Amino acid sequence: MNKLKKWLIGVLAGTAIITASVVSTKQKEEPLKRESIVLERTINFENPQITLNSAFNLCKPEHLSEVVYDPDFKKSDDYTIKRFVGHSRRLIEGYLQETRTGAPNHALCVADILEDVGDGKKRITFARRNITNSIGISCPADLENSIHHEDIHARESRFGYDFGDRIIKGKELGDLFNKKEIRTEVIKAIGELDAYASQIERANRTERKPSAMHIIIAATNLCQVYNIIENAIEGRKLTSLEKKYAEAKILKHKDTIETLKKYR
Ligand SMILES: [Zn+2]
Repeated sequence: MNKLKKWLIGVLAGTAIITASVVSTKQKEEPLKRESIVLERTINFENPQITLNSAFNLCKPEHLSEVVYDPDFKKSDDYTIKRFVGHSRRLIEGYLQETRTGAPNHALCVADILEDVGDGKKRITFARRNITNSIGISCPADLENSIHHEDIHARESRFGYDFGDRIIKGKELGDLFNKKEIRTEVIKAIGELDAYASQIERANRTERKPSAMHIIIAATNLCQVYNIIENAIEGRKLTSLEKKYAEAKILKHKDTIETLKKYR
């Protein structure tokens, strides 16, 4: 049995025990103790920026320059507006709207501007208000691992998108989107597969283990996104470039995906 498999079975079996004890508590009709929920949450967001900095320093992301607490989108809006001085209002509004659309599912978000993809510069990740009460971030190691998820997105934004046999950057990438040879939602979903799988792989390697809930959420998201992509490949719904992009990511995380398939 490989190390990843052994560890994941441990995490998932541990969860089964938690679920079983909640069920038996309910059967006895004992009220769920509030203290027990509070005790499980060991992360302190009294000063969100300090907490983010400390997790950032422990995570040591290679492709992020900083993580900025931005509950009202003010700082990410400023960043985008400055980047697009002289461009049309419509283009800027499009980018501002996009950061808001992704926020409910992503408490952290890399400012990814298509035209800049592959420029070699480190990226900034912005933390949304919901980071302070996310069920998937209950201890410092959870936050550290969530920053790693963003580092995966940042790497791609920094050096270009990997289509297996070649890397595509900025203008060429933009042209492919315009010609519908690749579609935003498809590319994003495949990028998430990469980021969720990397989260699980890092958690397996690191000494500071994230919470079981954090791993379950990453594993569930990975399975969901993998199923969608697998069905799309089988149903021939992807363009040839999208298929290449998906296959490169699936190959990169082959072991993790094979291990998780057993829990589908
Ligand atoms: Zn992501």
